[in-house]
Amino acid sequence: MNVILLGLPGAGKGTQASRIIEQYQIPHISTGDMFRAAIAAGTELGKKAKSYMDAGELVPDEVTNGIVKERLQEADTAQGFLLDGYPRTINQAEALKENLKSLGKAIDKVIYIEVASEVLLQRLSGRYICANCGETYHKIFNPTKEEGVCDRCGSTQFYQREDDKPETVKNRIRVNKETTDQLVNFYKDEGVLIAVNGDQSPEAVFTDIKNAL
Ligand code: ADP
Ligand code: AMP
Repeated sequence: MNVILLGLPGAGKGTQASRIIEQYQIPHISTGDMFRAAIAAGTELGKKAKSYMDAGELVPDEVTNGIVKERLQEADTAQGFLLDGYPRTINQAEALKENLKSLGKAIDKVIYIEVASEVLLQRLSGRYICANCGETYHKIFNPTKEEGVCDRCGSTQFYQREDDKPETVKNRIRVNKETTDQLVNFYKDEGVLIAVNGDQSPEAVFTDIKNAL
């Protein structure tokens, strides 16, 4: 099953991705995570991506398309994959379609997690992430069951993302809004789009996603 998770920053893509990959046993391909790992490792890719990410802008399409193309050639994607945060532009959607075609594949479903823009700001400013396993939490909306301990792996180390500062968050939502609408129409035309109401509990959103898949 080849699936895309679409939604504005803070819609809950990462939160749902960890549930989906566990349920369907497919790899999670997050371009944001790939860029953050490259920055942490100090690679050329990381150097290219950093200034864009710090400003809340999109990394240029040729860079992003290149890393996804390579990733989709890896063996673990044979039975399917979950793309999270990619594509983010029509150019990326078209490049993805071509790449998959050359591999004899196509996208089966695009899950669009819909959340009102006003909610996103609150979500991103309260987001924190487990430093060990990457599970995502929220100070108020989605805290760990035991304070300071990751539900999934038991780690007590967490971090907040550099680009979750209010100024950067506003720009990220603005930059992504128009292109997300375009992508929704693109995948509607392809006949694979499923919209899910993201403004309910993470469990309820996941139930809707499972029903859709
Ligand atoms: P994205 O990957 O789309 O940017 P995240 O999954 O990181 O979004 O979620 C953004 C923030 O919102 C996190 O702090 C997360 O815990 C919280 N969150 C995710 N889903 C929900 C939800 N259904 N209701 C309330 N808060 C949520
Ligand atoms: P995310 O983790 O998906 O919120 O992405 C964090 C940041 O990484 C974005 O604000 C962009 O700067 C960059 N990024 C992630 N995915 C893409 C993409 N598909 N195209 C361009 N930039 C991206």
